[in-house]
Amino acid sequence: MRTIVVGAGIVGTSVAHALLARGHDVTLVEGKGVAAGTTSTSYAWINSHKKHPESYHALNYEGLKHWTKTIAPEHPETVQLNGHVEFALDNEHRTTLTQRLERLQSLDYAARWITADEARQLRPVEIPDDALIGFFPWEGHAYPHLLCRLLIAQMQQNPSFSLIVDPATSVSRSEGRVRLQSGTELVADAVVLAVGNETTKLTATAGVELPMIPREVGGAAFGYLAYVQAPGHGLNGPLTSDHLNIRPNGEDALILQALDLDVSADPDKEVPPQIGEEFMRRLRTLLASDAAELDEMRVGHRVIPGDGLTVAGPATDAPDNPLWIAVTHSGVVLGPWLGEALAEEITTGKTNPLFEDFRPSRFSATAQIPAYAAPRKPGDQ
Ligand SMILES: Cc1cc2nc3c(=O)[nH]c(=O)nc-3n(C[C@H](O)[C@H](O)[C@H](O)COP(=O)(O)OP(=O)(O)OC[C@H]3O[C@@H](n4cnc5c(N)ncnc54)[C@H](O)[C@@H]3O)c2cc1C
Repeated sequence: MRTIVVGAGIVGTSVAHALLARGHDVTLVEGKGVAAGTTSTSYAWINSHKKHPESYHALNYEGLKHWTKTIAPEHPETVQLNGHVEFALDNEHRTTLTQRLERLQSLDYAARWITADEARQLRPVEIPDDALIGFFPWEGHAYPHLLCRLLIAQMQQNPSFSLIVDPATSVSRSEGRVRLQSGTELVADAVVLAVGNETTKLTATAGVELPMIPREVGGAAFGYLAYVQAPGHGLNGPLTSDHLNIRPNGEDALILQALDLDVSADPDKEVPPQIGEEFMRRLRTLLASDAAELDEMRVGHRVIPGDGLTVAGPATDAPDNPLWIAVTHSGVVLGPWLGEALAEEITTGKTNPLFEDFRPSRFSATAQIPAYAAPRKPGDQ
């Protein structure tokens, strides 16, 4: 088949890679540059931690397994799966951590309580003796932009692959084929749109309604990430505390998240200096070394479909529909597995039962979409 994938973030790159591996001709059309979107401004915690409902947990669990069994052995520089430590001091956090850990145990997910001594062995930070501490051994953190670059370099060895850097402006279906306008007109047997936050705009050109959450300051869409130089930090995996999440960004740097501060995150404004100062104040309560220095503050734009859940599958339920959509929050966890699963459906025509709750057609014009709550608490993302 002649296929086109639009968007070279973690989702589109993974779909393109999986289609090429199945013997199709693949053109990857990217508007700005490889991993130029949310994929490069992500906390990239690999987990299936607080994923509701259970069908969404099942998808994320597949994503986590795929990182463990396929990506980590093939591209070890893109992920570290050394578990995740979370400690709670305040009462509300103790309650929610207990609820999450017990739920995950009931789902046969690796999750257990550990002592402060064990936690300090795992993460060399200040953890008080009276903290309540959970350990989630399967989890970890990834470098998704790096994985995109590696997969694209690999695909470029194959003459059936091409990369076009030019934004797609419209897409239309006729007689079982798809036409895509991107500088020139491209025609294919199947097109997959994986354009993250540009989804609503591009699907509309094909007459398909696919709402994303509002692009609103104070809502769920925007989140701060602090990039910090911290030579010799000694962390080998993510740590969640009452007011700060930290993860390694290589051996000498960290990425920090403080979800309660996200209320003011605005991609159209400079980040106020007091936000960076507050991140560093919180970091100093955890890290003994005072060599840490704030490098950069960024505002990420979460890719979240209107009801918060993944969208994966044919744009409409019509038989032989050649237009496909892949858009999701938790796209780092899900992208590589989602790419394989969608490419398999496109190739074989066999539907994957795991996608049953996640088809694009659920967004009919009349459906009421429940509001999506902003992630502000430990364990959210
Ligand atoms: C603060 C923050 C924290 C997060 N933490 C996590 C986490 O811990 N774990 C996790 O799994 N996920 C996390 N996410 C979410 C995750 O990063 C995203 O779900 C994922 O990166 C989405 O990937 P994508 O490929 O769908 O989108 P993107 O990376 O945005 O890629 C879309 C691509 O499409 C291109 N494009 C757009 N329009 C066009 C067009 N018209 N023509 C051609 N190309 C186009 C863009 O340039 C871009 O390169 C987080 C996100 C944020 C913001």
